[in-house]
Amino acid sequence: MNRQDALALDAADPLAPLRELFHVPAGLIYLDGNSLGVLPRATAARVQQVVAQEWGEGLIRSWNSAGWMDLPARVGDKIARLVGAGAGTLVVADSTSVNLFKVLSAAMAIAREDQPARRTIVSERSNFPTDLYIAESLAAQHGCELVLVEPEGLAAALDARCAVLMLTHVNYRSGRMHDMAAVTAAAHAAGALVIWDLAHSAGAVPVDLTAAGADFAVGCGYKYLNGGPGAPAFVWAHPRHVGRFWQPLAGWIGHAAPFEFMSGYRPAPGIARYQCGTPAVLSLAALECGVDTVLAADSLGGMAALRAKSLALTRLFAERVQATCPGLALASPAADAERGSQVCLSHPDIGYAVVQALIARGVIGDFRAPDVLRFGFTPLYLRHVDAYDAAEHLRQVLEREEWRRPEFNQRLTVT
Ligand SMILES: *Cc1c(COP(=O)(O)O)cnc(C)c1O
Repeated sequence: MNRQDALALDAADPLAPLRELFHVPAGLIYLDGNSLGVLPRATAARVQQVVAQEWGEGLIRSWNSAGWMDLPARVGDKIARLVGAGAGTLVVADSTSVNLFKVLSAAMAIAREDQPARRTIVSERSNFPTDLYIAESLAAQHGCELVLVEPEGLAAALDARCAVLMLTHVNYRSGRMHDMAAVTAAAHAAGALVIWDLAHSAGAVPVDLTAAGADFAVGCGYKYLNGGPGAPAFVWAHPRHVGRFWQPLAGWIGHAAPFEFMSGYRPAPGIARYQCGTPAVLSLAALECGVDTVLAADSLGGMAALRAKSLALTRLFAERVQATCPGLALASPAADAERGSQVCLSHPDIGYAVVQALIARGVIGDFRAPDVLRFGFTPLYLRHVDAYDAAEHLRQVLEREEWRRPEFNQRLTVT
């Protein structure tokens, strides 16, 4: 593979027109869409419209006339199509952390009502910290135990004590992807419920929650869904739990009749009860624009086409790096079926400084302590030549030892 080959792949790429949906700053190779997706071109005008017209002119009337109240369900239904969820079973609300608290509470209650002796929540030691912090806190409140294992130890941890298995589908640090259907089936066979965190999956890899028979899921709006910084998150529950899945944050927007202002809480039917307080209208409007960029791939082959391109990009980058950067180890799976939409490299000492040197060259990835250089590939707006050039920049940073510069060795707050 040389640069000409990469350009030829771009010329033949059916998804290439989707890049036009985004404002990709000139000269930038953006490999951090797994942390904050690129700004869609439609977003600024849409948010401006919500601000100037719907808020500015419509004011309070817009809750009805502009459909503000329906946004969590409307955007939720769009995301549902990307993760194999039925219409009306997924809603946008709060943050991923908060939604995890809700579904973990519900899953623990359901599991332990049926089988009181079960008292562990099982997860992976390398799961994203907020997931583990939320689980730790909940386990303590329920007098239960959080059991953390390595991926190889999962099967053994699914024992008679396990109430809930809580996993992130694609690991944020390693990019390793679980077989959702197989893991869910194993957990169910062991008598446990399963929660999937789709933070690095929604809009990035094909997901079919319904086919997998999962119990609950949450996910993030600002990563591959391009919803903007701090975009609200989503939450899903399998319809078989309808009628049983309460949530602990019994706010008025999740009430069956918020505008009857009753003194007692009566949850809304279905997933609507997973809302808590007033929807974040501006953020929801931006998120809808982001989700629409992913749905725009529908007519070009949809998630299957996005996945095929994502794999081509990550394969190309990983192969170039392995061929030209002997000092770096591949930390994400080489097998396509086990890899999400990112490539992770590791170096024992200089990872942070190398990432900073790359950013100075206009190649944006990120660093995850202690040793991972992380590169996310969003097939909506990245080209094969970007993957090729990024690897070439990395080679030059290492060969010229640019990472030695003092300014690249000063830790910033956000890495
Ligand atoms: C990004 C991410 C989150 C983020 O949670 P917030 O509540 O939005 O801060 C949570 N879990 C995982 C696995 C993530 O990758």
